[in-house]
Amino acid sequence: MVLDVSTLRVVLGVVALTLLLLFYASFRRTRSPYSGWWCIALLFFLSGNLAFLFNGTPQQFWANPTGNVLLVGGAFSVWSGARSLRMLPPPKWQFSAACGVTAFASILESPAHNTWSGGLVYLGFMTLGIGLASRDLWRLDSSYSHVHKSMALAAAFLSAYYFCRLSVYFVEGPTGPDFRLYFGPSMASLVTLILLVAVSFSMTALSNDQLINRLSERAAHDNLTGLLNRGTFIDLATKELQRLHTTNSVASLVLADLDHFKGINDEYGHAAGDAALQAFAAACTESVRSTDLVGRYGGEEFILLLPGANQERAESIAADISRALAATGSLDHLQIPTVSYGVTSSQHGAVGLTAMIAAADAALYQAKSLGRNRVVSAGPPS
Ligand code: GH3
Ligand code: MG
Ligand code: MG
Repeated sequence: MVLDVSTLRVVLGVVALTLLLLFYASFRRTRSPYSGWWCIALLFFLSGNLAFLFNGTPQQFWANPTGNVLLVGGAFSVWSGARSLRMLPPPKWQFSAACGVTAFASILESPAHNTWSGGLVYLGFMTLGIGLASRDLWRLDSSYSHVHKSMALAAAFLSAYYFCRLSVYFVEGPTGPDFRLYFGPSMASLVTLILLVAVSFSMTALSNDQLINRLSERAAHDNLTGLLNRGTFIDLATKELQRLHTTNSVASLVLADLDHFKGINDEYGHAAGDAALQAFAAACTESVRSTDLVGRYGGEEFILLLPGANQERAESIAADISRALAATGSLDHLQIPTVSYGVTSSQHGAVGLTAMIAAADAALYQAKSLGRNRVVSAGPPS
């Protein structure tokens, strides 16, 4: 039985178009970049296949290089989609370089007469793009459903198939018997067809996972400062204190309150107040380690849990934050506010969060009454 290439290309086009409509519906609903990238990839595959239908006509000289570039663009869109699941930006220069080099190589090898002009480069970039997608899908963390592993395997299989196409093409050229039988356009269209259908199963699951991850990320943070919000801070700090308790380690808690903050709002406006809050958040993030927890406790009050830091170390971190804030200079003529801190530490890790917050709050109150712009330490909470 001889499989007719043009018919297979049309079938592949129809399947890609159907999937494009389905994936677009998923994109409209979830706004997930993953489904967005798949829509773009399908558009590339669709138009690339359409361009190849002009092979053997007088239009081949432009259609064949265009087809090669569009399919490579499709493979790199699949990789961009996989990266979006890992919160990584699209690989802009790799994308442009792959398309540019493919175009160049395809134009060089007399595309008007040669349907395999630029074939080696085209097959190489298809292998690479899909292979990289497979690697990123495999590396997804456990917040994604297990379907990503099957996706990674499917992509690895397709990439391996393209690698075999590349190798056989290299050895015997596009007219060799093995290439024509196993790695020619008919077989490649069939393999792609099967894998596209397999991908459609994972689409809803992965797009939903991406949407859920984005929403939980947003729900966990304060949207003005980007710090943890109060609820998330309390949950994480409670767990962290329990963990430290079992290892008998020390932790310190800092409450910070911007001084005379109401005056800034009154004098310079709410937007200036917001900018000062953001500057303070940035100073905190800059001064602590990535394992420390920093949250917005409410209004212009902030809270930090510093695992492993004793009272002295916590006091010095509070002073660092004030120094970093002062180094911000002035924001739009607004004088950067000073900050008061209350610090407490669980000397042997056996103290609950509520008691630590109460102790730090009492110390903060004292810092305010002593004239503000200072760090006051509470004794270890009882
Ligand atoms: P003190 O030195 O005693 O802490 O005085 P203060 O003025 O800083 O404290 P007070 O509690 O009187 O005022 C806090 C102000 O913080 C009042 C409120 O309008 C302002 N505030 C709370 N949340 C925000 C916010 O998200 N943005 C802005 N711009 N202001 C906020
Ligand atoms: Mg204040
Ligand atoms: Mg306050």
